[in-house]
Amino acid sequence: MTETGRNTQSHGELLLGVMGDPIAQSKSPLMQGAALQALGLSGAYVPLHITPDKLGDAVQAIRTLGFRGVNVTIPHKVAVMEYLDRLDSSAVDVGAVNTIVNDKGILTGFNTDGIGYVRSLKAEAAPDLTGTRILVIGAGGAARGIVSALLKEQPALVLIANRNEERACQLADSFSSRGSIAGAGMDVVPGVLGSMDIVINTTSVGMYPHMEDMPIDPAGLHEGMIVSDLIYNPLHTRLLTESLKRGCTVHGGLGMFVYQGAYALEYWTGLEAPTAIMRQTIADCLGQVPGK
Ligand code: NAP
Repeated sequence: MTETGRNTQSHGELLLGVMGDPIAQSKSPLMQGAALQALGLSGAYVPLHITPDKLGDAVQAIRTLGFRGVNVTIPHKVAVMEYLDRLDSSAVDVGAVNTIVNDKGILTGFNTDGIGYVRSLKAEAAPDLTGTRILVIGAGGAARGIVSALLKEQPALVLIANRNEERACQLADSFSSRGSIAGAGMDVVPGVLGSMDIVINTTSVGMYPHMEDMPIDPAGLHEGMIVSDLIYNPLHTRLLTESLKRGCTVHGGLGMFVYQGAYALEYWTGLEAPTAIMRQTIADCLGQVPGK
């Protein structure tokens, strides 16, 4: 076994981290630290402040220092791809990497954001997405990963509505071979809400400190519908509060954060992630009771 990229699993010393700029605000070290402890693994998950000009050196250092893997966050998710040896299809689909796995010096990039979201949605709100009609509000980076993962669940329709209609159509076009998918402007939303099973807000509308804002008029939301919001600050957005009043099942953004990290931990360790402890740790940190 070489010094670089050694299989830390067999040695019990697991070096992990998260690269970003800035990084001090990241909750990943707290969550992953709690997970390592719960699994009884010795090692560390550390915040790594890496500026864009040092990204190439930092990726090489994963090999040199024998890190088993790292998460990658803003602003490096796209730029990091050129420094990796391999890209998993999850990263190719999304065009961004949030997780790197080091196998004996060979670095593979994954994207666990979209699959993390879908695992959370299925675990917490909608166990079977087959045949469902899904409205995705927003067409940014998060929407891309989510749409890619949703299409694997064989929904009847994924409709993307965005403020910038062209961006929604481009996103839909790029996945048109993978299922029934269309893009539109926000003007279509009132007319289609009644026929949707699931609505997912992937925009930042409603996020702290603009907590009174909502991405859509909730008047069209109906009983039995699932309303999901990627935002986790606050844990419960105004959109979710209004949805609850109308008899909808609601799903917040905390689960996505937990499960994107859970997948990463599982890729690094081969062990099932302690998701309940990870969720509780973050919910405690945010000072609120964990949601479903
Ligand atoms: P992004 O790439 O910048 O995309 C932002 C999206 O929001 C675009 O569709 C944009 O529409 C729309 N938008 C922004 N401001 C708007 C406004 N005032 N009115 C209407 N639409 C607006 O951002 P992202 O990376 O996809 O992140 C989006 C959200 O997801 C953020 O709130 C982020 O916190 C959340 N998120 C959560 C998790 C999690 O773990 N729970 C993970 C990733 C992201 P245009 O195209 O028209 O500009």
